[in-house]
Amino acid sequence: MAKDMDALLEGYQKFREHYYGESSLLFEDLVRRGQRPKVLMVACSDSRVDPALVLNSQPGDLFMVRNVANLIPPFEDDQAYHGTSAALEFGICVLGIRHVILFGHTQCGGIQSLLESSPGAPIKKSFITKWMELARPAQQAVLEFHAECSLEEKTTLCGQYSLINSLQNLLTFPWISEKVQQGSLFLHAWNFDLSKGHLEAFDVAENRFKDINVL
Ligand SMILES: [Zn+2]
Repeated sequence: MAKDMDALLEGYQKFREHYYGESSLLFEDLVRRGQRPKVLMVACSDSRVDPALVLNSQPGDLFMVRNVANLIPPFEDDQAYHGTSAALEFGICVLGIRHVILFGHTQCGGIQSLLESSPGAPIKKSFITKWMELARPAQQAVLEFHAECSLEEKTTLCGQYSLINSLQNLLTFPWISEKVQQGSLFLHAWNFDLSKGHLEAFDVAENRFKDINVL
């Protein structure tokens, strides 16, 4: 148990000795002027997926939301606790963020658990099962169009369909659809291939994911 914490404390020591010291001007500026991120990112809680690392981002660059399977719920005008929706509201309406990027990934455990459950089965009393219902349309698309694929392929495809479903759910928020129509907010869906370290982006015009090529 103590060893788990030791690794973190060693990491903290390195942060103090190197990163913080070398970036003191950046931190001073962020404290003095506050945060002004241009991008709101919604990524999975998966410990293997770190958008800031993949994109070489610095503190202050990404307003980050992480949840199980990087899902966006639809706009719901009720009095329930909506953590992801609250973060979207703060980032877009208060910080004036111009880009929302949904950052999915292959081998997503949440997506895989959805594929292994049967549609129509009674929802178990579990936060995860209820939450993953948001991606049920993606599972149905995979069962309908890709029934012959392996579980790994289905998981990748279901993750992609789920990203598109979440893009559609973003547009159910009135203050998002309004800004998108005005051209002051842009929505993106990216998928990270864990085994290759590659990113692909959804191309709305071509209705497919395409590799993001650099160099
Ligand atoms: Zn995941």
